Amino acid sequence: MLIGGIEAGGTKFVCAVGDESGNILDKITFPTEEPDKTLDAAKQFFNKHDIQALGVGSFGPVDLNKKSKTFGSILNTPKLKWKQFHLLDQLKQDYNVPITLDTDVNAAALGEYKYGAAKNVASVLYITVGTGIGAGFVKDGQTYIGKSHPEMGHIFIQQRKDDNFEGNCPYHGTCLEGLASGPAIEKRFGKKGDLLGADHIAWEITADYLAQAIINYLLILSPEKVIIGGGVMKQKQLYPLIRRKVLEFSNAYMELENLDEMIVTPKLNDEQGIKGAIALALLG
Ligand code: ADP
Ligand code: ZN
Repeated sequence: MLIGGIEAGGTKFVCAVGDESGNILDKITFPTEEPDKTLDAAKQFFNKHDIQALGVGSFGPVDLNKKSKTFGSILNTPKLKWKQFHLLDQLKQDYNVPITLDTDVNAAALGEYKYGAAKNVASVLYITVGTGIGAGFVKDGQTYIGKSHPEMGHIFIQQRKDDNFEGNCPYHGTCLEGLASGPAIEKRFGKKGDLLGADHIAWEITADYLAQAIINYLLILSPEKVIIGGGVMKQKQLYPLIRRKVLEFSNAYMELENLDEMIVTPKLNDEQGIKGAIALALLG
């Protein structure tokens, strides 16, 4: 069976066709522009393939409340042409196959669960630390959606005494995303993260906030694995810093064995989102 997947990101779209084993047979990447143009490009790609089902991992916030009148549409995004855009309706018009829509981070979590770093566990949390911060959760092969999807990047964090940054979340200022996303790091230190040295204080501070968030996620969801991806995590020194702080913050309350294997990098080389999107279609 040939399955289609779309990783609908705020910056780029990835479209691919694959099979049930996670093999990708054809793939295309193009920038996210206005909805019509972007979805036309996707259609041109899929016209070449006879897909039987389509899975879509979308940037958000996207309305995943099945009871909502706007189910399947993009909500409050700064990308104005996409705001209130009814993504699922348009996809249904474009493709006469069953479509499964979920968040980009749930798709990435599912990709790693089926084919990557979380292949051998029953529950996994996937966190992305990039332009924004978000997380997806998979348990026993199913992605977690509540009334709509969780927004784990916007949780409240204790700010360090040595950090008086006002934060850059337009809604909450110093929520996790407002303190630890790529743009937050850039705004606080006046330089993009990739231009800050590996021993810059930025990483100590960012690891602190991410570790606080992870402690909260562990307490609430108890995942067996935590995978952290996204552009900011290219700073590999963050992983040991985060693990150390998670241990410190837990203060022996939780049994945290072998954090080197529990808090890890993604394994699918930037294909977790698109492989996960294809896997979404198989959930039905
Ligand atoms: P997106 O979140 O838009 O899908 P990314 O996950 O690539 O994209 O995240 C982009 C963010 O990551 C930007 O804010 C960028 O400054 C930051 N970033 C990218 N590479 C690095 C790096 N090597 N070190 C630190 N920050 C980085
Ligand atoms: Zn926020």
